[in-house]
Amino acid sequence: APAPIETDALIIGAGPVGLFQAFQLGLLEVSCHIVDALPRAGGQCVELYGDKPIYDIPGTPKTTGRGLVESLLEQVAPFKPRFHLGEQIETLARQDDGRILLATHRGKRFLARTVFIAAGVGAFVPKRIAVEGIERLEGTKLFYHPDSEALGRFTGQTVVVNGGDEAAVETALALASVAKQVTLVHRRDVFQGDEATVAMLRRRVAEGSIRLAIGQPSAVDDAGLKLITPEAQNLFLPFDAIVGCLGISPRLGPIAHWGLELVRKQIPVDTEKYETRERGIFAIGDINTYPGKKKLIVCGFHEATLAAWGATAIVFPDKSIPLQYTTTSTRLHELLGVK
Ligand code: FAD
Repeated sequence: APAPIETDALIIGAGPVGLFQAFQLGLLEVSCHIVDALPRAGGQCVELYGDKPIYDIPGTPKTTGRGLVESLLEQVAPFKPRFHLGEQIETLARQDDGRILLATHRGKRFLARTVFIAAGVGAFVPKRIAVEGIERLEGTKLFYHPDSEALGRFTGQTVVVNGGDEAAVETALALASVAKQVTLVHRRDVFQGDEATVAMLRRRVAEGSIRLAIGQPSAVDDAGLKLITPEAQNLFLPFDAIVGCLGISPRLGPIAHWGLELVRKQIPVDTEKYETRERGIFAIGDINTYPGKKKLIVCGFHEATLAAWGATAIVFPDKSIPLQYTTTSTRLHELLGVK
């Protein structure tokens, strides 16, 4: 295996709090890597309310989930944090020298002096289609929640889309213009999403460019997907590819096995440094708990600020770090790349 990536700080989770953690570490000259299970940054803000307005970010009267994440990415850019997206941290273990060894499900490893768990409500993973044996098609013929830019791979194919929410409807509509044939499979003939999107689906179905199949997938082989309709009929749908859009849900998953104390699926921390009971392992944002905890972004920003200061005692044990203002410090201006 290649040598682990050595770093002062590793942030688990690229949600709003993980992103602001990277910014605060940057101001204190602690370099970092950020890992997220999702293929993009933003956590709940992008996954759950990308286009909805948000009104309680300090100094920002109104933005959207996605707008906030774009601003956070722009703010942290001068520090060039290194992102590892589409990678879930599976294991975390203390080494003899005090550092922490972490590994992703794909085998990428990190050796970190400090770790910041900004894992929110857990890693966002797509819900799987519950049919025996279907997992062996994953990555070759079965794809969950593909990015809209990645739909080109289905050009000319016979595609089955499974799901009934807005993402499923939008994916089916987008595929209709590239695939040879698109069948949208859902357990009932009711689709979620804004009115115009669902109306567009009904139009495409009426004109025959999308087919509907109402039923529950029951079996799969290389040739096709079997469905059972609400009337207990069997349907057989041949496919070149299946696209699963059954929603993305957070899974606490591996965090439960890292030997950290958990209280109702949250990690207890102190309120001086937002450090867990394990030295050098901090927990910030929705994943942590302490007296008075509120799961709000503004609280996570404060926690990240003090956690970054907490880390300096480990990363720079012999230095006392003065508080500097971004308004006036020439050193901070240098780091931020501003004059
Ligand atoms: P998250 O946003 O949950 O991000 C955590 C990230 O960590 C995820 O991307 C996940 O994939 C990743 N991750 C987890 N485990 C692993 C692992 N093992 N390996 C790799 N990656 C991992 N808050 C407000 O302040 N104001 C609001 O108006 C507001 N509105 C909301 C509306 C809705 C509908 C919802 C659901 C929440 C709202 N919130 C609001 C709450 C706010 O979104 C959360 O407090 C915030 O997202 C927490 O940020 P976070 O960075 O701690 O975690």
